Amino acid sequence: MARIAVIPGDGIGVEVMAEAVRVLRRTRELAGLDLELRTWDLGAERTLREGVTITEAEFETLEGDYEAILLGALGDPRIADDRHARDILLGLRFRLDLFVNFRPCRLLDPSLSPLRNPDRWSGGMEIFRENTEGIYVNLGGRFKAGTRDEVAIHEDLSTWKGVERIVRAAFSHARDRRRPRVTLVDKANAMPASGALWRRVFQEVGADFPEVEREAVFVDAMAMDLVRRPQRYGVLVTSNLFGDILSDLAAVLTGGIGLAPSANLHPGRHALFEPVHGSAPDIAGSGTANPMAAILCVGLLLDHLGHVREARRVEEAVSLAIAEGVTTPDLEGTSSTEEVGGWIADHLANVA
Ligand code: ATP
Repeated sequence: MARIAVIPGDGIGVEVMAEAVRVLRRTRELAGLDLELRTWDLGAERTLREGVTITEAEFETLEGDYEAILLGALGDPRIADDRHARDILLGLRFRLDLFVNFRPCRLLDPSLSPLRNPDRWSGGMEIFRENTEGIYVNLGGRFKAGTRDEVAIHEDLSTWKGVERIVRAAFSHARDRRRPRVTLVDKANAMPASGALWRRVFQEVGADFPEVEREAVFVDAMAMDLVRRPQRYGVLVTSNLFGDILSDLAAVLTGGIGLAPSANLHPGRHALFEPVHGSAPDIAGSGTANPMAAILCVGLLLDHLGHVREARRVEEAVSLAIAEGVTTPDLEGTSSTEEVGGWIADHLANVA
């Protein structure tokens, strides 16, 4: 039996996660899966009520007792600096050492893409973004802040271990999914120190995967290419910062933030799935949030647990909803969050 922790969180996270859980329950019923879901009360309401964001015991239980975590979104205007979101999300990321940020970008319907010839791009792409290092370690500082002599330094940190494990995860994925090539995205011309480390590791690790081709592309060239000829790429591996930027670019090419799922992984150990979007307080409570990103997270979760057919079924049902125009206003539809989730759950049995 697999145990899944569900953390709906805040704002539209709660609304989209209700639909994701509905789809997961229906899949469980249709396929007879042995899955246990438990909802966790972590988020702004709990923080405001009890003055606690997440406890040590909760971290330990989430770490030890669950196969995976499904998270809606965290963020609430009532809590300064979204302290609770940082404690919970970054806490889990570091505690569980979720070093892979996995962003699949699949075009589910050509009508969703701002590209001129979206039909040429059917295969999709997976971005492996390093999730624990880079500029996000917050090394640096300001000197003479607020004066005209101000100096600001922000360091970009890469370690051999950190680079090796994300690069290996990307190659393993390419081999397992029969992707022909892994593309390293960097800026080795302007950042020669980290560039040399990434490229050395990329060649060394890549040599263990002779069936997978390897190439390196500068991030500026990649930004152009993703718009010009995305069909050329399959698996991309890159740093925390470049991955942040490129995955948003890739998300918009496939229909936008309401459709983008992600996984934070420590392969073989822990997995946390969350939509790329946040808690979107501006639309929370309006019933207009697109639940598809959260539902596609259920697809990623099922795939992760080895239920590949069921994962495909979820993705197919989402594609069918788009093709039938059962969508929320962000995709120019008129359906509510609940209607879209309900429609997808009801049509799971009708797709291959
Ligand atoms: P963050 O948590 O990243 O600080 P946020 O919650 O303010 O961000 P995002 O999730 O980045 O916002 O989304 C930006 C805007 O896009 C939202 O304010 C909302 O209007 C829209 N949006 C985000 N997610 C969805 C969704 N699932 N369906 C419809 N619109 C969405």
